[in-house]
Amino acid sequence: MMQRTLAIIKPDGVARGLIGAVISRLEETGLKIAAMKMIQMTKKQAEGFYKVHAEKPFFDSVTDFMCSGPCIVMVLEGEEGIERYRKLMGATNYKEAEEGTIRRDFATDIEKNVVHGSDSPETAKYEINYFFNALEMISG
Ligand code: GDP
Repeated sequence: MMQRTLAIIKPDGVARGLIGAVISRLEETGLKIAAMKMIQMTKKQAEGFYKVHAEKPFFDSVTDFMCSGPCIVMVLEGEEGIERYRKLMGATNYKEAEEGTIRRDFATDIEKNVVHGSDSPETAKYEINYFFNALEMISG
């Protein structure tokens, strides 16, 4: 099934010069970029983005981190795009991520883990609409 997913190169990835490396990997796997821009979130915007984690102990910390610098936000498109991009990212905790995944190769911390990817079709819809309107997306 063709799916769209929301991908973010987080502030640590942008600051460390990993934009090219991340984009190379997703292009190599055949995922298409349907939209892309650079933004810096406010604290409120980061809180809205991660609202499902509002009750978690790391909520304040992760939302501070997400607005600490610019991010690249992208809409990716492909067959089983959500699962394929999650696999490419690797586990949330880079120490548990498989060899060859973005997080295993580049993350430095459970929080500063370089990339975000939607985890379900419902989340993908919410997250894509959070950052992009229809005019900003290429229809494939
Ligand atoms: P993801 O879907 O793999 O990004 O993971 P989650 O949705 O569970 O968590 C969202 C983000 O919160 C993660 O990517 C991390 O940046 C951060 N995070 C998750 N777990 C922890 C934690 O235990 N401590 C801290 N400080 N951050 C966390």
